[in-house]
Amino acid sequence: MKKENMLNAALKNLELTAEKIRLDPDIHEKFKYPKRCLIVSIPTRMDDGSIRVFTGYRVQHNMERGPCKGGIRYHPDVTLDEVTALAMLMTWKCAVVNIPYGGAKGGVVCDPKKLSGGELERLTRRYTSEIGIIIGPDKDIPAPDVNTTSEVMGWIMDTYSMNVGHSVPGVVTGKPLSIGGSKGRWEATGRGCVYVSLEALKYKKIDPKKATVVIQGYGNAGSAVARLIAKEQARVIAVSDSRGGIYRKEGLDVNKVIEFKKRTGSVIGFPGSKKISNEELLTLPCDVLVPAALENVITKENASRIKARIISEAANGPITPEAGEILHGKGVLVVPDILANAGGVTVSYFEWVQSLQAYFWSEEEVNQKLKKIMVNAFNDVVRVMEKEKVDMRLAAMMLGVGRVAEAARVRGLYP
Ligand code: GLU
Repeated sequence: MKKENMLNAALKNLELTAEKIRLDPDIHEKFKYPKRCLIVSIPTRMDDGSIRVFTGYRVQHNMERGPCKGGIRYHPDVTLDEVTALAMLMTWKCAVVNIPYGGAKGGVVCDPKKLSGGELERLTRRYTSEIGIIIGPDKDIPAPDVNTTSEVMGWIMDTYSMNVGHSVPGVVTGKPLSIGGSKGRWEATGRGCVYVSLEALKYKKIDPKKATVVIQGYGNAGSAVARLIAKEQARVIAVSDSRGGIYRKEGLDVNKVIEFKKRTGSVIGFPGSKKISNEELLTLPCDVLVPAALENVITKENASRIKARIISEAANGPITPEAGEILHGKGVLVVPDILANAGGVTVSYFEWVQSLQAYFWSEEEVNQKLKKIMVNAFNDVVRVMEKEKVDMRLAAMMLGVGRVAEAARVRGLYP
């Protein structure tokens, strides 16, 4: 699926939801469009002394329930349509887990693997300065997303703070702990995904200790899911990264795989495992499949061959709408991105609260509060799913869009 279609898919999902909840047509019209899109040029001094101009975006979809919130991704394929679709997803995601935010997203068209540390820092600082006119702790709070690290978040915090003349830790989340980051933030997306996957297993009456798990993508989210679900004694039988996958029927020692990838740059070649392609990995028989890489990996071409019983979307938008229909028809329980990966933004919310209050919580407190929010949200969505006899994505959308619509209704239209 082309990137442009991601926005079409988001609008289509909104339309289906609007019909189902009988959304006021005026509010539906408003929700179709982002509140603000900012396109910036980012002139960056390269190491060879030349200047290269990168393009960056920050899109704020809706701020009716609170300040906008959402990550920043660095990727060569970033487009304005994609960032807009992802900003819209953030609006619904924050509403599903009921945290007081609207949705935003940012992106820079670049390949961070081809930039030096210095180039990456200068690009980040100039991008931050350019979007500085619309971000802020009570306006819009960026965070990590694809290819952006806590180090990048630290530069964003520093640049914004230097521009306003004082330290503003609440302007960004996913920061290093030494400047106001939260304990547990870095693994929060994976941890939240594991909490809802365990609930999904319970719902399907599968014993986690007997469950097999396949994970596509071994970055921040994927490797955390592997580590935490293995702690529940589930068997992780296959994992992959952008270079391909590895399989071991008896289960992989996921911590050793993490170490191996750190050392060699890839999971490929892990001793005792069999090399498989990403495509083969997706169609392996398993109880839980976790797509934790990029969007549109499960399409109408491969959906009918998927043999998982549950899919937990750790990535944003890994399943196309046509594939979603096929999977629903096959009885696969798909825990949608706006629920399955909402652990990241939930702990971002905790980080923002801690940064604003300058009072920091223990890791146990963070994880405990995260679990409560994720399990409650899962059960809220299941209730809608059963009552309305819809799939889980539509149920989550109905819950999320309904909450934003209620905020829009009581606020009314200005002027
Ligand atoms: N990028 C993450 C997401 O898509 C986290 C956003 C945040 O923490 O604000 O949910």
